[in-house]
Amino acid sequence: MASHSAAGGDGKSEDVAKLTFLKQFNSAGRGFWSQVSDSDWNDWRWQLKHRITSLEQLERLMPTLSPEERAGTLLANSKLALAITPYFFNLIDPTDENCPIRWQVIPRIEETNTATWEMSDPCGEDSHSPVPGLVHRYPDRVLFLVTDRCASYCRYCTRSRLVSNASGYDFHPEFEKQIDYIRHTPEIRDVLLSGGDPLLLSDDKLEYLLGRLRAIPHVEFLRIGTRIPIFLPQRITPQLCAMLRKYHPPFISIHSNHPRELTTEVREALGRLADAGIPLGNQSVLLRNVNDNVTVMRALMQKLLMCRVKPYYLYQCDLIAGSAHLRASVRKGLEIMEGLRGHTTGYAIPQYVIDAPGGGGKVPINPDYVLTRNADRVVIRNFEGKIFEYPEAADGTPLLDAPAEIEEPELV
Ligand code: SF4
Repeated sequence: MASHSAAGGDGKSEDVAKLTFLKQFNSAGRGFWSQVSDSDWNDWRWQLKHRITSLEQLERLMPTLSPEERAGTLLANSKLALAITPYFFNLIDPTDENCPIRWQVIPRIEETNTATWEMSDPCGEDSHSPVPGLVHRYPDRVLFLVTDRCASYCRYCTRSRLVSNASGYDFHPEFEKQIDYIRHTPEIRDVLLSGGDPLLLSDDKLEYLLGRLRAIPHVEFLRIGTRIPIFLPQRITPQLCAMLRKYHPPFISIHSNHPRELTTEVREALGRLADAGIPLGNQSVLLRNVNDNVTVMRALMQKLLMCRVKPYYLYQCDLIAGSAHLRASVRKGLEIMEGLRGHTTGYAIPQYVIDAPGGGGKVPINPDYVLTRNADRVVIRNFEGKIFEYPEAADGTPLLDAPAEIEEPELV
């Protein structure tokens, strides 16, 4: 198939320099934990045990905490808990109050500002839950929530009503009931394990679930949604990979938002998963002050490909209560998509979606490339703004006679 897209960027030297800088792979380093032994540092359970979870710890490690962060952290345990692994904490630049890592995991007082249209369950999951911990919103697939815990907590989390259990949500998944529902519902062919983070379960527990689900004949497709490779790459052990490969093909969707999150440690962890034959995709959330920038997003997508991960979705941030300070606009999202399509490899382009508020499902959002559909042609524009026409009749049949010459397309 002929290639129609141009390679390369927009040619601005400052953007090229920034892109090159953002695409470098660096280690998160040891930071405050330089005295810790290699075996402890590389042990995922040690990382979990030593997470930063209190204002006292945070202030000790980061004296540059702003008044907004301090006030937000004081309230976090009644909304969405504070937790940051030592590994991920090392990616924060304490001298930069706009650090994109900092904005994702350090609570801010703005989280207490709630607009009337914001929701605690913006995707309407609870109303599509036939048994506790199972969401059956689409005909042929289900969301199987396995835990309410994550390695670190994202301040914009769509499921902040239940993850970390800070706001008293009654989350009690019952694996046997969840599995029974799937077994007795033959139209379900796709199960997505999520939470919370499924890779926080022990290998044995995860293997039990995968084994039970694989044994159901109509379950064709198993997926795991996880941010563990980003927050806790130490969890991606050879043992975990060996276990997962027994249940092929489990697809894994990771979640990364900024190129700085893709460290050498993360690249190695993702390489272990890819070497085990596990197809990897990435989901990003469009976030103000984090990744609402074409160059940052291009660097992220290109770096993901270098880590053997296909960019899958770019989400418009859900209308989660208290997230306005983190939400970038849909206009910005469209501008970013314009800056990707045609300007970089097609494989590096995720689908931009809005999860329709209230439970309408994912709606793809694209810049307008189809300008008009006339009786004898479809008029399109390319990434450079050049206009082209594709001749075809209104009923879709190919045209034998050339259409009248186009003068000026009627813009839609
Ligand atoms: S890792 Fe996922 S589930 Fe956990 S807090 Fe972040 S967005 Fe929410």
